[in-house]
Amino acid sequence: MSSTLITNIGVLVTPERELTDAALISNDGLIAWFGSAKDAPAADDAIDAGGRCVIPGFVDTHSHLMFAGDRSAEFEARMAGQKYAAGGIRSTVAATRAASDDALLAHASRLIAEMSAQGTTTVEIKSGYGLTAFDESRALRLAQTLTGETTYLGAHVVPSEYADDVAGYVELVTGPMLDAVAPYAKWIDVFCETGAFDTDQARAILLAGIQRGLGARMHAAQLGESAGVQLAVELGAASVDHCTFLSNADVDALADGDTVATLLPGVEFSTRQPYPSARRLLDAGATVALATDCNPGSSFTSSMPFCIAVAVRDMGMTPAEALHAATAGGAAALRRSDIGTIALGARADLVILDAPSYIHLAYRPGVPLIHDVLVGGVSIRPPLRAVLLDDRAAPPVDE
Ligand SMILES: [Zn+2]
Repeated sequence: MSSTLITNIGVLVTPERELTDAALISNDGLIAWFGSAKDAPAADDAIDAGGRCVIPGFVDTHSHLMFAGDRSAEFEARMAGQKYAAGGIRSTVAATRAASDDALLAHASRLIAEMSAQGTTTVEIKSGYGLTAFDESRALRLAQTLTGETTYLGAHVVPSEYADDVAGYVELVTGPMLDAVAPYAKWIDVFCETGAFDTDQARAILLAGIQRGLGARMHAAQLGESAGVQLAVELGAASVDHCTFLSNADVDALADGDTVATLLPGVEFSTRQPYPSARRLLDAGATVALATDCNPGSSFTSSMPFCIAVAVRDMGMTPAEALHAATAGGAAALRRSDIGTIALGARADLVILDAPSYIHLAYRPGVPLIHDVLVGGVSIRPPLRAVLLDDRAAPPVDE
């Protein structure tokens, strides 16, 4: 048994309210107590939050970290006016197939370190750049060493060698490839979009995964309205991701069902597309999550604070709604209640912000505001130290 007291919390953001002058105790990785700092019981260790704001760790439910290669030239061309198309995924497939296990794992680990440094404490990782039974199962086997939230995305795009036989590729994805990945995957996903898979194919792919005991997720409505959104709701998918272009019927279906609408503002930013309206979804009563979609083609950001800033600036969310979507919303998109919230019994996955309020996440875009991150009550990075500034600072003088 090991307990840690975090004391001197300026603002503690719980689902019900914001507690000021608060403290929190984690015990064996779980939140065991929180309340007014003056009432805090003793613990084995103590962390002084220095009056800072403490929020739940971010839950990033959409990433494609198992890849090799660089597509910065494609981004540069797109910013110069070239249109985004789903087919660019194939250029990453060749590089990923050619990479060693060690190289893939080292690269994904580096991206996870980036995420952690920006306050993410849970991450989902998809396959989807292998597109053979061997390469997809390899990606998920490696991903499973980094997270329990692994997603099989053999149906990311049709690989070049199946360009004339899409039906044959769907048979592979729902047959031998599914057999190969099943031990390593928790979820199955499909990119339901023009240039990727149509709704009949998406239905067949998700149903095959569901029959194998995998949970369903979907990419849909990134480039235009799609029947995929209502299909995801109909099949009980945990999440439908992108949701950039939604009909009124799509919004109603999301509000009535229990499929989370996961918005990925990094994609609109990096492909120069219009942002989805989170406001419209929230007003209708849908559950909204925010995620990075960290991937080399359409959104190479690992930063949840960046997504929060864009969601507040351009998607109609209040700072409180954006924080909720990036934490509890993400947890809902993974069908979990043990993360993404500051509640008794939840995992002590916490971020100590170098700010008096979470509003600063949007108010100070692009600024590293993460003072410390705790995963299961344990600090995973030392506090930031202004080494250069300290070295160069003049000795203190009386003012
Ligand atoms: Zn994606």
